[in-house]
Amino acid sequence: MPRRPTATFVLSLDVEFAWGVHDRIDPATIPFARVEEIVDALLELFDRYEMPVTWALVGHLLLDGCDRGVEGLPHPEMPRPRHSWLKGDWYRHDPCGPADRHPAWYQPQLAKLIRGAAVRHDIGCHGFSHAIIGDRGCDAATAMAEMEAAAAVVEGATGIRPTSFVFPRNSVGHLSSLRDSRFRIYRELDRSWMERIPVPESVRKPLRIIDLLLPTDPPAVVPSEVLPGLWSVPGSMLLTRAEGFRRFIPATLRSRKAIAGIEKAIRTGRVFHLWFHPWNLLNHGEIVFEALDSILAHAGRRAGEGKLRLATMADLLPSDESAGSTEAGARR
Ligand SMILES: [Zn+2]
Ligand SMILES: [Zn+2]
Repeated sequence: MPRRPTATFVLSLDVEFAWGVHDRIDPATIPFARVEEIVDALLELFDRYEMPVTWALVGHLLLDGCDRGVEGLPHPEMPRPRHSWLKGDWYRHDPCGPADRHPAWYQPQLAKLIRGAAVRHDIGCHGFSHAIIGDRGCDAATAMAEMEAAAAVVEGATGIRPTSFVFPRNSVGHLSSLRDSRFRIYRELDRSWMERIPVPESVRKPLRIIDLLLPTDPPAVVPSEVLPGLWSVPGSMLLTRAEGFRRFIPATLRSRKAIAGIEKAIRTGRVFHLWFHPWNLLNHGEIVFEALDSILAHAGRRAGEGKLRLATMADLLPSDESAGSTEAGARR
């Protein structure tokens, strides 16, 4: 028997629909309902290449609907973050049901859809309402409520307690609450140079484009145990969207970079961790799909040669830790 390769390709998706932007813009300006088609196409693509993926879902999406409390506020039981940029109540855009009328806010069939795929995916969490957990406006009680509520909704929908967590906007914080909520692994900020330097997001965006043009490989990463029983795995690369001027970046440039990252993981016996947001494929998504197709084809080929493991975040846990989630991730 050949030795099982430790080089691993992991893909994690931040799935939020309207919840990803509700604190910054009016989500009604973006056709989030169409993200359903993108999710369907992604599931088909992952089945074709037998790629198990970590789907980090905003918990609220899985609700069948929700009601206003006695004072007319949505989710009166939930503590609110006090982000400095926020105007009005955190849940002010929540339509409070019914689910079928507001697909940007509710996708109760999503867990079943993912579980129904031929590949065994990992369903993780991306908060309950996308509060920015590492921001100083999010206190410990709010962080804990975000994590617990999200985990409870996913567990209710799938029967499996989720172990993977992706912090909204990669804003990492309140790690002891994360561990107390029985999550076991989270995505840490990317190891790449342009994600680490302290510049505003408006400066970082062009830097990501510059990096795509540079002949450098994205970083290969390793999971590490940050608290007893709680692991982190950094991202290696964000799959760049094709909106606006980014549509002029050909798919080959995106896939070439990711494939270089996969090869680096194989050379070093480490992890190449790609991630993106499905809703970012709303505009010129065909370019990103083409890139993803090439990346998955390459990864599938290398996996077939026994050089690469295709895995979810949950699969990166030591085997005793992942006992509760083995069902969630295909192993190879
Ligand atoms: Zn609600
Ligand atoms: Zn997000």
